Amino acid sequence: MAEKVAHAHAAKETEKGVQRCINRACRATFGLRERIYACPRCGETLEIDCRLVRPHDPSALRKYWAAKRTSKLPRDASGVWRYHDVLPFSETAPFVTLFEGNTPLFHAPLSAKYCGLSDLRLKHQGYNPTGSFKDTGMAAAMTQALISGARTAVCASTGNTAASLAAYASRAELQSAILLPRGQVSPAKLAQSLDYGALVLEIDGNFDACMRLVRELGDDPSIYVANSINPFRIEGQKTVAYELMEQCLWQAPDHVVVPGGNMGNSTALGKGFQELLDLGLIKRLPKLSVIQAEGAAPLAHLFASLDHDPSADEERIPEKLTPVENPQTLATAIKIGAPVSWKKALRAVLRSGGKIIAVSEQEIADAKATIGRDSIGCEPASATTVAGIKRLAAAGHIRHKEDVVAVLTGHALKDPDYMINYHRGTLSLDSGAKDRTAPPILGAFRNAPERVAATKAAILESLERRRSLSD
Ligand SMILES: [Zn+2]
Repeated sequence: MAEKVAHAHAAKETEKGVQRCINRACRATFGLRERIYACPRCGETLEIDCRLVRPHDPSALRKYWAAKRTSKLPRDASGVWRYHDVLPFSETAPFVTLFEGNTPLFHAPLSAKYCGLSDLRLKHQGYNPTGSFKDTGMAAAMTQALISGARTAVCASTGNTAASLAAYASRAELQSAILLPRGQVSPAKLAQSLDYGALVLEIDGNFDACMRLVRELGDDPSIYVANSINPFRIEGQKTVAYELMEQCLWQAPDHVVVPGGNMGNSTALGKGFQELLDLGLIKRLPKLSVIQAEGAAPLAHLFASLDHDPSADEERIPEKLTPVENPQTLATAIKIGAPVSWKKALRAVLRSGGKIIAVSEQEIADAKATIGRDSIGCEPASATTVAGIKRLAAAGHIRHKEDVVAVLTGHALKDPDYMINYHRGTLSLDSGAKDRTAPPILGAFRNAPERVAATKAAILESLERRRSLSD
């Protein structure tokens, strides 16, 4: 390991780096084993500095990782732990894995045409063990939970994070608890968490009350908090950047585009790309762009105000983000009004020359159906990428022949109701509510089921009608 990527403190094997406060005025550092979830001095979020040192021969590192793909060790078969050399864990760490990562990079010809591009590739993180991108981060977080001596892992989440935490905690033989506001969560979203064995605790209070309780529980020595600002989760998630560049034969694409909710994903990718550049593994940063849903787009609003200032750079990142009080979008995975990792994400986007924009519910829905027709599919939040690329291409930020990769974050089956409603023409912002006032989102690519007589002739007639429509 040490001969591949030299760590500045290689002698202290248990401390492959430090936790550092991202506040420029503070920059306090803490040991990796300190169980803290925000800077104890100023309250700002933390990031991990792995103290990576550029190797003399980057190509040797590329070959070393490529060789691990044929290894029979479970650790090497994981798309996270294969890149152990760039992660803040020692050789003897209790690696938790469910064979996460190793996700496909699809060509998506219909989506490319839809966006007005000659080609478009989709990196599908929904192919992870629990069906979302959260798994790469959770493999790292649960490993750290074991190192810290915790007995229970806790989070407040109603979606992908809960499912991922439940699965990885069980695999690590840790108890897991998920705090939810009672009566405000659809049973469908709980199914995975229950199946993986999490203790699901229904709280009398709203989601903010659950978050406050999780923070209070973090003081208990038996508890590890796996919330979205956990810097070890970001470390696991950054391996997606390494795996993607390996799949791109170490030629950085012109653009990488991701959905934007809590901003952990864009933060992790931005950190990964920067490290790859610093290690000499790629020659330039891809332009990293983040796409939000219009009803939950606090960072896109902020970015629009920065964008008019040609001198706007990372020195000028404002102290505060104005949150969206009541976020509205059917893309529930990014229905977040006050993203916690916004500063780190904004810094990565500005550094790379990318954009942060918002797209409408209609654009998300039609982009999602297009990804479906490419035989790929994804959850609604993931489709913001293709909708955003279409806009960025129309605006000239992405050119026709440029090399573009979109990162899809969740599997299509994470939200089957959305698909059924889209194709039946019953999708609207208040789908399921008693008093429906929002207009339906009439999809351009609807594919509603047909009622047909139980005869061969009737079926052949239906097939013929559909063929003539698609000709
Ligand atoms: Zn601080």
